[in-house]
Amino acid sequence: MTRSEMNGKRNSSKEEGAIFMGSVTVDQLNKEFSGVKALNNVNLEIKEGEFFALLGPSGCGKTTTMRCIAGFEEPTSGVIRIGEEKVNHIPPNKRNCGMVFQSYALFPHMNVFENVAYSLNIKQLNEKNVLAKMGVYARLLNRRLGRMPKEMERKVMEILEYMELEPYADRLTSELSGGQQQRVALGRALVMEPAVLLMDEPLSNLDQKLRHSMRNTIRRIQQDLGITTIFVTHDQEEAMSMADRVAVMNNGEVKQIGRPTDLYSHPSSPFIANFVGTSNMLNVQSIERVGAYSIIKGEGFALKTNHQSKEKGTVIIRPESIQIHHADTEMNPELMNILEGEILISTYLGSIVRYEVKAAGHTLIVDATYASGESILKPGTKVKLAIEPERVLVI
Ligand code: ATP
Repeated sequence: MTRSEMNGKRNSSKEEGAIFMGSVTVDQLNKEFSGVKALNNVNLEIKEGEFFALLGPSGCGKTTTMRCIAGFEEPTSGVIRIGEEKVNHIPPNKRNCGMVFQSYALFPHMNVFENVAYSLNIKQLNEKNVLAKMGVYARLLNRRLGRMPKEMERKVMEILEYMELEPYADRLTSELSGGQQQRVALGRALVMEPAVLLMDEPLSNLDQKLRHSMRNTIRRIQQDLGITTIFVTHDQEEAMSMADRVAVMNNGEVKQIGRPTDLYSHPSSPFIANFVGTSNMLNVQSIERVGAYSIIKGEGFALKTNHQSKEKGTVIIRPESIQIHHADTEMNPELMNILEGEILISTYLGSIVRYEVKAAGHTLIVDATYASGESILKPGTKVKLAIEPERVLVI
């Protein structure tokens, strides 16, 4: 089955209102583990077909949130809905969620076909409310004996073809590469035609290059099928490059939800600014309105900003918002903030050069785009830094 046929299948099923569909709503979710408050009033509204990332540092509650949605953890309080249906009291195997774990959780003694077919068998057994696990093995054995129901075999082969795993159908999963194993895990979740796909750090075990290519694969499949996907990660680059929207969590709370560009451009707190990308942060001592701008003062600096509020907070300046020039460059201080400085460290990073510059008593990080053949400014070089007032955020 080609990708477009798969997509067509999904669309026709969409019309029937059956598969690959489901919004997820989490309302005032709390979870305590013997005195540890893992989740504190978590609220999420994930739209049908959305790719939604839960992002945050280790221990912030991402996995617990996902496990509550999947039904593996019982919330202390709060309501979870998949589509219109409240699912709090529905067991995990009836919630119609497909799961992909960091460890892949594949059966090493089964081949690729059997791993994918296993979840389909389990689903069918569950639907019939039969707990005869041995029956699954018998049916898998039947395939080897050529006696598996044709419909089931066709469905598994369709997914293997879709995941480009057909050539490996008879290979043990222990004989596959990390990326291939990850595709089997994804295929095993998708074959059940879940309403929601839940992925918990699915790329963490892959090397960096493979991680990048799997990001694209997962994103393409998600868009192709339009399946509602919740993706847990502590890697901000992963979340920002893959998700439609991201919820940033800390200490069991959702701190901000937004599109990646909104989180980057309008962080609601220094925590978000620091977690989502790199920031220069300076403490504000006073803000005063002067003409068209506000003047923010702090230790060693005075900066113009378009920022209106008089509330003191933290100045946030992204590294790429600072232009770097030789010290003798003529500049108009009416239009720009100009700071004199000296380069401490220059790091070539391919398409950019990252400079650490001592200026106004602080060490500022400056990212300058690099075109091949240009010379890189050396440590000790005297420079002028220019920052547009609209690029000086105060939060
Ligand atoms: P990581 O990125 O490290 O996986 P996370 O953001 O997914 O972290 P959770 O696994 O959700 O974090 O854990 C949230 C908090 O709940 C942590 O303080 C953790 O120690 C605690 N916790 C999670 N599961 C249990 C459990 N079964 N028993 C006790 N405490 C738990």
